[in-house]
Amino acid sequence: MVCVYCGGNTNVSNSRPQVKSNRIWRRRSCNNCQAVFTTIELYDPSQTWMVYGSDNKPSAFISEKLFLSIYESLKHRPSALLDAKYLTETVINKLGRTTNNGVIKKDTIAKTASVSLHRFDKVAHTHYQAFHKP
Ligand SMILES: [Zn+2]
Repeated sequence: MVCVYCGGNTNVSNSRPQVKSNRIWRRRSCNNCQAVFTTIELYDPSQTWMVYGSDNKPSAFISEKLFLSIYESLKHRPSALLDAKYLTETVINKLGRTTNNGVIKKDTIAKTASVSLHRFDKVAHTHYQAFHKP
């Protein structure tokens, strides 16, 4: 990765796997301007997952759609944006454990999001259920 400030080459000076959220946190330093910044590496299913709805037609997995549906349900919370961001990552990590070939059913996405929301915020769960009936 190049420097976000000058485009120079960077080195990783510290790296920490975050097992619970399945990410890797990295501290980078620029060889050119000596700037220090942080990057996060996480799994991106948009290139590998295919979603099948009741019509059995495949469509690409779009994590932003999942994020928006979760965010809509959490809007009553002052921390809705961050909560939705982390819950979306949680749901994606759980969904990854339901497939080994990248095929995901739309129902599985809705059920997984629903279970995660139920554990996190009952009002959000009720809101989500109203719009995503299994
Ligand atoms: Zn730089």
